[in-house]
Amino acid sequence: MQFNKIIGHAELKARLIGNIREGRVPHAQFFLGPRGSGVLPLALAYATYLFCENPGEGDSCDVCPSCVMMAKLAHPDLNMVFPIFLSADRGKTCDPYTAEWRGAVLNDPYLDAEVWRGLLKGENKQLRMGVDIAAEVVRKLSLKSFSGGWKVMLIWLPEMMDAPMANKILKVLEEPEPRTAFLLAGHANDRILPTILSRTQLVKVAAPGPSEVTAAIQQRHPEISPADARGIAARSEGDLLEAFAMAKGEEEEIFVFFRDWLRACYANKVADNVMFADYFAKMGREEQKGLMTYALYLIRQCMLQWQDVPQLIAAFGEEMEFVKKFSALLNVHNADGIRHELETAHGHLERNANPKVLFLDLSYRLGTLLRMKEAVA
Ligand SMILES: [Zn+2]
Repeated sequence: MQFNKIIGHAELKARLIGNIREGRVPHAQFFLGPRGSGVLPLALAYATYLFCENPGEGDSCDVCPSCVMMAKLAHPDLNMVFPIFLSADRGKTCDPYTAEWRGAVLNDPYLDAEVWRGLLKGENKQLRMGVDIAAEVVRKLSLKSFSGGWKVMLIWLPEMMDAPMANKILKVLEEPEPRTAFLLAGHANDRILPTILSRTQLVKVAAPGPSEVTAAIQQRHPEISPADARGIAARSEGDLLEAFAMAKGEEEEIFVFFRDWLRACYANKVADNVMFADYFAKMGREEQKGLMTYALYLIRQCMLQWQDVPQLIAAFGEEMEFVKKFSALLNVHNADGIRHELETAHGHLERNANPKVLFLDLSYRLGTLLRMKEAVA
């Protein structure tokens, strides 16, 4: 995880990097911020920078062996503890869970306790950090650094440490071996023992602003219109986990609309086409353009399938099912035409064409193209 992959926080990133470059690395820091603000990615980017063998002024290098290992969260001097289900069969320490934890964080470093609990599939159990984890922390920090440099102990959600664990790490937290950095990343300092808090330096992480969240949504989901992205950003109040979940929901809605509409085009049912056109006309202009952008994206995926280069396809899940079925309708006579029609429609929408007329016309043209068979020249 590099700093540049993290959304927002420009000032904070610069300050953290500046401190490391000037040799000011506190022995314990607590990255504290609301859910979805990026406390964990920031702590990981900090560790990556600390380990980097060739750090630049603005970020870690991303190519040295340390950075390569950190990209997989597999650096031997990165120790991580996190809440788990204290279970009889899997033990009470984090080690048996580390592979799953890595997978979860690499999949989404903005995850929260609920996401983690869901992945562990134990809805009724409580996530905890007990005294056995404290022993794990002390033991790991007593080992020599593998690379001869810094050792990091990352504690995710320190607010979930129980009192015996917190008490047991106090000593090592206060006086760790030289070149050891504790990085705590969590959301609530009012549930942490004051003795822990007083031994850590607070790094306050604010929620990213609406424009930053909007940009992040548009980057991850280009098919979502700018207006919708702004709406999601406003509703999420800077919680990126929430914002991305909402964006995914919108994406599914767009997919269902597009799939059902294309089926109606193919079936050449005029009444259905009119119904879809009515619905389309009621969308905002940005949303209409967003639908065309999405349609072009999905048609491109179908073309890749048709051209037999499935390894280049970005679609998955329901989209992928659609791509497999729909690509069977493509052939040399219609593939370019379909793309051309969608591009033209997008351009006309930008020039404020009447959406209902445009959409009905487009439905008719797409239907005709889709029904063209390979053999018809
Ligand atoms: Zn590096």
